[in-house]
Amino acid sequence: ADDTLRKDIMRFRTPSGADLTTRNDPYLAWQRAREQAGLWPYFRSYATPLTPHATAVSDTGVTTAGPNFGGQDYLSLTGHPEILEAAHKALYTYGPLTAGSPALGGGNPLSKALEAGLAEALRTDHVMLFPTGWASGFGTIRALMHKGDHILLDKLSHDSLRQGAAASGATVEFFRHLDNEAVRRHLAKIRATDTARAVLVVTEGVFSMDSDTPDLAELLALCREFGAQLLVDVAHDFGAMGERGGGQLEAHGILGEVDFVVGAFSKTFASTGGFLATRSSSAREYVRMFGGPQTFSSAITPVQTAVALAALSVVTSEEGARRRTAVRANAVRLRDGLTGRGLEVMGDVVCPVVPVLIGDTATGRTASGLIARAGLIAHLVEQPAVASDAARFRLQVMAEHTAGDIDAAVGILDACIGEARRR
Ligand code: PMP
Repeated sequence: ADDTLRKDIMRFRTPSGADLTTRNDPYLAWQRAREQAGLWPYFRSYATPLTPHATAVSDTGVTTAGPNFGGQDYLSLTGHPEILEAAHKALYTYGPLTAGSPALGGGNPLSKALEAGLAEALRTDHVMLFPTGWASGFGTIRALMHKGDHILLDKLSHDSLRQGAAASGATVEFFRHLDNEAVRRHLAKIRATDTARAVLVVTEGVFSMDSDTPDLAELLALCREFGAQLLVDVAHDFGAMGERGGGQLEAHGILGEVDFVVGAFSKTFASTGGFLATRSSSAREYVRMFGGPQTFSSAITPVQTAVALAALSVVTSEEGARRRTAVRANAVRLRDGLTGRGLEVMGDVVCPVVPVLIGDTATGRTASGLIARAGLIAHLVEQPAVASDAARFRLQVMAEHTAGDIDAAVGILDACIGEARRR
């Protein structure tokens, strides 16, 4: 078990051997050993809705019933009566299926209304939907950028953004997390020799593994100074943060000014799917036609669309503002509670994501097994999602968590992390 605890998952990323049906056997043996040691936190499924108290069942049949800090329903909208009603109506009005990709009949009146609503909320003119949040980042970057262009990504950018950059054929460079001075140096260097090609700077509104945010206004000004464009992924902050729900772009006073905004409905918007919002009508039309995952994949269904649309209407209402206040208060209580017990809470932004740093991956795995048995639903994040010495629990608060839920989570985390460190 000790070996299982310590082995690095990354070594399995480059398997060798000529037979594709057997060369991953060592990986499977390692996973099975982790399962047997009760240290396999992945592929859990929920047996209930994503309410503040929920039941999750692990791949190996371990049931955890209790406070749920592992969902992304930040404003607690998945059980909202108006949203469920909208889903029901859409199902019976348009049926469960779309005709195919948006290019070939995949749209319906709800998708048009959702695009218009997002355009208004983000103060931008041109919005298009994608089948997932992942597809929106990937598809936008892959479609817009070409060989000879330059992409500068924050080093901790989400997989969808990195993959889109890699697939585009453009020259890709990474800059130090949140470091605008590093961006300036990169931009100056590129523009010293190349003024002919496009440069896209890529970052996120809130980094959901770290709970931190770039100085977005300064970054946008830098892009303007060097004739570069900015893309921000607002998957975690749009709807959940900002006075009117405009996320970090609103908080930084640049709503409607960023060139490309991509996001997801899979957090605050209680659905699945994603979007691109842009100032440029030609970029939007080009991505609509050449944006891979949206051109060649079926559109989100009427139910998903109706849920996102109804959620957007809550997000932009007074009720949405009240829910954001609640989620903020819960995030503060959780942060303070954990820090009060001597645990290290990462990041400096009060947002629904509260990461608790463990460090050593093996300790994180042990703690994760103990926490699941103690009745708290909380996800361990380890490599390759984060560095091997930076394992953490990513807790996600919801508007409808009570003070009691939060205090219970703090107590369980404190006890289980302490126990894991002693072992
Ligand atoms: N971008 C970011 C920053 C994310 O965190 C995620 C989801 N984890 C995505 C994109 C992908 O969104 P989805 O799960 O809706 O595909």
